Amino acid sequence: MANPYLDVDKKIMAEIYTGSEPMKNLEVLCDVYGSRFPGSPGDKPSVEYMVEKLEEYGCENAHYEEYTIAGWTRGPATLELVKPAKKSFEVISLPHSIGGEVEGKLVFLGDGAIPDYEKRKDEIEGNIVMVSSANPRGMQRSLHRSEKFMRSVLAGAKGWIFMNQYPAYGPQTGGINPVIPSISVSYEDGMYLARLLKREKDVMVRIKTTDRNHDTVTYNVVADVVPKKPVDDEYIIVGSHYDGHDISQGAVDPASGAVTVMEIARVLTKVRDKLKRRVRCMCFGAEEIGLYGSYAYAKEHSAELDKCRFMLNLDSGGSAGKKGLVFHDFPELEPLAEEWADQMVAEVPTDQNVSPYSDHWPFFLKSVPCASGGDPTQVRTGRGYGHSKYDTLDKVEMQYLHLAAANYSRYLFRVACEDKWSPKRKTQEEIQKFIKDKGYDQTVKLADQMREYIRKNFKKIHPETKEWLGRGGAW
Ligand SMILES: [Zn+2]
Repeated sequence: MANPYLDVDKKIMAEIYTGSEPMKNLEVLCDVYGSRFPGSPGDKPSVEYMVEKLEEYGCENAHYEEYTIAGWTRGPATLELVKPAKKSFEVISLPHSIGGEVEGKLVFLGDGAIPDYEKRKDEIEGNIVMVSSANPRGMQRSLHRSEKFMRSVLAGAKGWIFMNQYPAYGPQTGGINPVIPSISVSYEDGMYLARLLKREKDVMVRIKTTDRNHDTVTYNVVADVVPKKPVDDEYIIVGSHYDGHDISQGAVDPASGAVTVMEIARVLTKVRDKLKRRVRCMCFGAEEIGLYGSYAYAKEHSAELDKCRFMLNLDSGGSAGKKGLVFHDFPELEPLAEEWADQMVAEVPTDQNVSPYSDHWPFFLKSVPCASGGDPTQVRTGRGYGHSKYDTLDKVEMQYLHLAAANYSRYLFRVACEDKWSPKRKTQEEIQKFIKDKGYDQTVKLADQMREYIRKNFKKIHPETKEWLGRGGAW
């Protein structure tokens, strides 16, 4: 097949495969600035570093944008076995947990299938629920941690323990809401407690947390690759969040994606003379604890989004695997992607899927055609070491950083240059119907129910819970 962009492809491929910028940037982001969690000491310096680099690469308009989020600072947490024996465990709090101390009977719900919270309400009421991170067997959609948490609170839980489903990775982190003291245990400690419960029936535990919820200022990084001669004012966005969870380097998730975005910016500036439309390169903050960065951007730049012809989300973009495209319900974009993959002599497997748990989501809600980078041929088994302290730089391989930049930069170049680009933009009615059909309105409904439940049933409301109740809106 004739490749109209052969010269561009050669230039891009030579740039990528003769350099190691993504790995150098990854080392700085992870080893120098740490987790880059919102408000952590490395947050702002890492943002300033990315802006400086993007400027150095030849991007225009490189800057960061500030916004305020419901931030959180971790304190030490403990889990004590009170009855039938004394023992303590190594645990961590879950982001947005309140600080507090609770004691109660341990109730283990296994994978936490939806019917179990109602069914075991009497046991749960006033006690401490433990639930595994595994998706309940046979369930079609993924049952997110936040939903298991909210269903537990609605059944009357006063403390919450999230158990990692993976052996040897320690406790797994992940945000919940500031309602009850909530912690995470390793697979091994969770299994120990589950066995004890089976043997002894009556197990009492005590949770103590010392975390703080407070407003935090954090950032989005923005930079443009501007064509020498733009043909119109349409543009595309490529982005990845840069914030990791505070307990880790967040190397694969998300930094491998952030450095891929930076590499795409670097190589596209080298072909600016052939580029037809602007490519906006972004690194979002505060994704892990609530997609705050992408929501803030989509709100602030709402008026410009109808000119955005495409958004590609590269969260964890440099992880191991093929570098394909998962379109978020835009089947009409698949044939073109296949044709371009042939042109590029690249393997770019495609698929359709939408989930609300990364930065494409606020763009999807605003009718922007979008996709996420990923490997649709890989059987997804869950997070593995993701969201644990073992998501470190040594897990990232140069070959995948190269491949990600090679496939996505060339794909995005074509999206920016294609004159017959016409994905169907959904109307707001279509989007709302889609969300309902997929059951994604559940989370929002549950959050509203939980708010009501707390107002009615909590005798004393923690000041940080009160603050959260007052915010309303997004869960
Ligand atoms: Zn991520």
